[in-house]
Amino acid sequence: MNKKQARHKRLKDQSGIRVGIQITFLLLVICIGIQFYLFVSSIESGALPEVKRPPGVEAFLPISALVSAKHFLYTGTINNVHPAGLVLFFIICFTALIAKRGFCSWVCPIGLLTEHVNKLHCKIFNRRLSPPSWIDYPMRSVKYLLAGFFIYQIVFRMPVQSIERFIQSPYNRFADIKMFSFFTDMSSTAFMVLLFLAVLSILIHNFWCRYLCPYGALLGVISFASAGRIKRNPARCLDCGKCEKQCPGLIKIRRKRKIHSPECSACLSCVNNCPENDVLGFSFPFLEKSASPAVLAIVFLVLFMTGISTARLYGVWQNDIPKKAYLGYVQQQNHVQLRKTRRIDPEKLEKMKEMIRRMQRQKSKNSNSQLP
Ligand code: SF4
Ligand code: SF4
Repeated sequence: MNKKQARHKRLKDQSGIRVGIQITFLLLVICIGIQFYLFVSSIESGALPEVKRPPGVEAFLPISALVSAKHFLYTGTINNVHPAGLVLFFIICFTALIAKRGFCSWVCPIGLLTEHVNKLHCKIFNRRLSPPSWIDYPMRSVKYLLAGFFIYQIVFRMPVQSIERFIQSPYNRFADIKMFSFFTDMSSTAFMVLLFLAVLSILIHNFWCRYLCPYGALLGVISFASAGRIKRNPARCLDCGKCEKQCPGLIKIRRKRKIHSPECSACLSCVNNCPENDVLGFSFPFLEKSASPAVLAIVFLVLFMTGISTARLYGVWQNDIPKKAYLGYVQQQNHVQLRKTRRIDPEKLEKMKEMIRRMQRQKSKNSNSQLP
């Protein structure tokens, strides 16, 4: 085995590294979820929680992060309501400038879930089912429209004076608690929508990531400026198509020398499945050889660890909302809920009124008939 073949084999052997990084981030998200669950449960029982609220939960508040980003652009400061949300938003956007939409296939837990749903899809249908290109293109635009709508409304339409008001509003301050209630106290409509999305994700390959995720759309647009990208050496390519078979972004790799597509998630599946040495690789302009999975893993770990450590160092990671404020908010919400449930349903009230009117009419009829 010559040097090139040995390197090719080494790179293939590293293909499990991405799964390792995905699992690491998933475990982190699970830990954050458990800690936040303990925090909210304690508050809901009326006691001040002993555990701290995990700031990482703010990663699931993208709208708030977008408003905070505009606030940051205008004031140069990171707000004290959801600072971690903004820090994580910046880190995630920055990853797209280095390694395409790698966040989706290396870090995001929904991306990991989608990958497994895709495997289930392939097992059920024995191949990938995706809409023909004349439906695929307009459907792919949905995620860009969603992202564009939020960016337009927040970055361009929202007046500067409203930003501070929104950031300090109870709606935003306790958005994490609302998100928690969304999942723990899910309405039947929300459940049906999630079920519908789950069914579509099984029926259509890569449905959520390819057609609906606005975060993915934003990263895809930023990734046009990515330093790293997949490059193909057409002179050595066998045109076997094994790369395209594995590409979750359905990219026509054989037609390109460099992959500029916003659908590329730097998953390296194409590289791992290419039978030839030095044909496909994820290249950075400052590296002579293509980057191995280990290099990409280091890139993601370093970006997240550096970003979060810097935020902690400058005191812009934990928010300033005291536990008592969370307790007060939840108690107030419970009070409102109680008042709502106690209030008589207007329809029922109308029925009761109608019943009383009927009884009165009957009574007057009876009294008339008794008259001599
Ligand atoms: S298979 Fe290759 S081209 Fe397709 S998304 Fe993954 S890295 Fe990008
Ligand atoms: S798998 Fe490699 S050799 Fe085969 S078509 Fe793709 S780039 Fe060419």
